[in-house]
Amino acid sequence: MADEAAPNTATAEYDVAAAPPRPERWQTLLREAVRDPAELCRLLDLPAEWAERAVAAAAEFPLRVPRGFVARMRKGDPFDPLLRQVLPLADELVPQEGFTADPVGDLSAELAPGVLQKYRGRALLVLTGACAVHCRYCFRRHFPYEDVPKGRLQWEAALAPIAADPSVEEVLLSGGDPLSLTDAALLPLFERLAEIPHLRRLRIHTRWPIVLPERVTEALVAALARSRPTPVVVLHANHARELDGSVAAAVARLRRADVLLFNQAVLLRGVNDSETALAELSERLSELRIVPYYLHQLDRVAGAAHFEVPTERGLELLAALRRRLPGYAVPRYVREIAGEPHKTPVTE
Ligand SMILES: *Cc1c(COP(=O)(O)O)cnc(C)c1O
Ligand code: SF4
Repeated sequence: MADEAAPNTATAEYDVAAAPPRPERWQTLLREAVRDPAELCRLLDLPAEWAERAVAAAAEFPLRVPRGFVARMRKGDPFDPLLRQVLPLADELVPQEGFTADPVGDLSAELAPGVLQKYRGRALLVLTGACAVHCRYCFRRHFPYEDVPKGRLQWEAALAPIAADPSVEEVLLSGGDPLSLTDAALLPLFERLAEIPHLRRLRIHTRWPIVLPERVTEALVAALARSRPTPVVVLHANHARELDGSVAAAVARLRRADVLLFNQAVLLRGVNDSETALAELSERLSELRIVPYYLHQLDRVAGAAHFEVPTERGLELLAALRRRLPGYAVPRYVREIAGEPHKTPVTE
C-alpha cells in the first residue's frame, strides 16, 4: 500500500515530466478524498467514538476514501458494508496467528523488482503503491512499494525479462492500483508493452472505476480501444451498492473500448457474507455487462483477520448462489496458495 509520504506524486511516477500541467478532474477528486476519521464520521452522522477508535489503525495504514464513495454509504450506520471496507478499526492492530505481511508469497515470485510471475504465460507489474481508496483487507498493505521501479528508464530495465521470454503472452498491470498513474504516464507504457511481439493480452486490475469513476477518461478509453494486445479489465467491487449510476457510466465508457470486462470480489465478513449480498452483487454486475470472475477467500494478511469468513460458510454461500443464479453469474470461489501454479478452487 502507498505510504503517505508521496500519495499524489506517486500518481505520475512512470514519467513525471509527462504529467499534464493542469490536474484532471479525477486528480482533484483524489486530492479531496477523506483522510480524517473524524471527518468521515461527521459526514456519516456517526458518533465521534468511532473516529477515536480509528486513529491508531489509521496511523499504520491511513484512511483514504473518495467523497463520491462516501456518498453511497448509509448515514448513521456504523455497519454499512461500504464503510466497513475503509474504516480503520482497533482490531487491525491485534496480531493473529497465521496472518502475515506477505500471505501470498509475492516477494519470492519476483523476476525483477516490481515484476511478479507466479503463473504460466502471465507476468504482473506492480506499477505503483498508490490507490484511490485504502481497503482495510488489502493483501498488499505491507508490500515494499518503495523498491519498485519508478519512471520510464527503470521500467525499461524491469521489462527486459518479459521482452526476452516468448512464453509471456499476458501482462497484468497491478499495484496498488495501476490507474493511479496519469494517462500521460500510462499510455506510453501501453505502447511500449504493445511493441513486445509475443504479448497477446494487456490486463488491468483496478478499483478506480468503482470508487472514483471519473478516472475512466476519454484518453484512457481511446488508448484501450486501439490496443493491439487484447485489453482485459478486471474491476474490484464487493457489494452491489458500490455500483451506482456514476460507475455504470464509467463502465459504459469502458465498453466502448471493447474490453473484456470482469469483476473480482473478496468474501468479507460484515460486507458481503450473505446469500442476498452476493446474489445482488452478481445481478448488478450482469446488469452492467460485467462477468463475475473470482470470489476470493481472504488472503491472511496481518491486520485483516476480523474480515475472515470460514471456508465452510463460503461454500454454503456458493451452493446457494448456484441454486439461485444463472451459471454465468456465479463467480469462481478461489484462494491463493503461495507456490501453487494457479488460483486454487476452494473445495473444503
Ligand atoms: C492472480 C494473479 C494472476 C492472474 O491469475 P488469473 O487466474 O489468470 O486471473 C497473475 N499473476 C499473479 C502474480 C497473480 O497473483
Ligand atoms: S484498491 Fe486494491 S491494492 Fe488498493 S488498497 Fe484496495 S485492495 Fe489494496
